[in-house]
Amino acid sequence: MPSLPKWINDTVENVWSSKFKECTVSHVETITNDLQRIRFAGDLKDIHFEPAYAIGIRINDRDFRNYSPFNFNKAEGTFDVLFHLHDTASAGTHFVKGLSVGDSIKILMPRGKRFFEPDAKIHFSIGDETSLGSSLSIKEASEEYNALFICLHELEQCSALEKLNLYGYHSPKNSTMRIIEALTDFLREEKEVICRDDVTFYLTGNGDRMSLIKKFLKAKGVSPKCIRSQAYWIEGKKGL
Ligand SMILES: Cc1cc2nc3c(=O)[nH]c(=O)nc-3n(C[C@H](O)[C@H](O)[C@H](O)COP(=O)(O)OP(=O)(O)OC[C@H]3O[C@@H](n4cnc5c(N)ncnc54)[C@H](O)[C@@H]3O)c2cc1C
Repeated sequence: MPSLPKWINDTVENVWSSKFKECTVSHVETITNDLQRIRFAGDLKDIHFEPAYAIGIRINDRDFRNYSPFNFNKAEGTFDVLFHLHDTASAGTHFVKGLSVGDSIKILMPRGKRFFEPDAKIHFSIGDETSLGSSLSIKEASEEYNALFICLHELEQCSALEKLNLYGYHSPKNSTMRIIEALTDFLREEKEVICRDDVTFYLTGNGDRMSLIKKFLKAKGVSPKCIRSQAYWIEGKKGL
């Protein structure tokens, strides 16, 4: 989302008021040094939610940032977000670190393109810390469809996966070889299901890494229609 003058953002909030909801921070939990889970509460009765939809949070006068809600519970009026606190100097991290229980913020309600493929037999989510929220929402949906879910995350601290009940492959940061090795194992083991186009791959997180993985999967024979992708951040770019 581009940085805009304060008056434009104020106008957007007013003109588009039906797209925003006042939400209260109801719980803050540290998952690892650089990951924080925050639960928000608000009136979600009329809100449409799909896996990997994103909310928008105005982190200062000029900027909004996208984040992925999960555990989206309309009846209870709550949802969770996992924030990657990648740099204390970044505007998003600064804003999130300042949130505490009881704070009230206006949130742009979930929106996005359709990502989840309900007919897939296996859902494979690949990304980094920023992708954990969308992985969790894809996992929740896979369970509803009685399908299999698997994930591969590139993480600074892999202990996050166990704490989030997200079991799957993981790789240290910037280790393309480890990612390729894990994918090679999976492609070999699930060759037949992949040939039948029954596996959907969801690629999110770092844009450059995502492009590389997409090329690799296509080169290994995965059909382009079985790959969904969206960059969540790109080195040197602010707030996609
Ligand atoms: C649809 C969508 C859903 C998203 N969901 C989530 C989510 O659930 N949780 C989450 O934490 N993030 C999520 N993101 C990513 C998040 O919006 C970006 O990381 C955003 O840039 C963070 O804002 P910032 O102010 O902290 O950093 P910015 O000011 O935007 O970026 C400053 C610099 O930091 C670097 N940078 C940005 N993000 C990261 C990062 N994560 N790791 C390392 N370096 C980085 C870049 O080089 C950038 O130039 C999502 C993005 C999109 C588009």
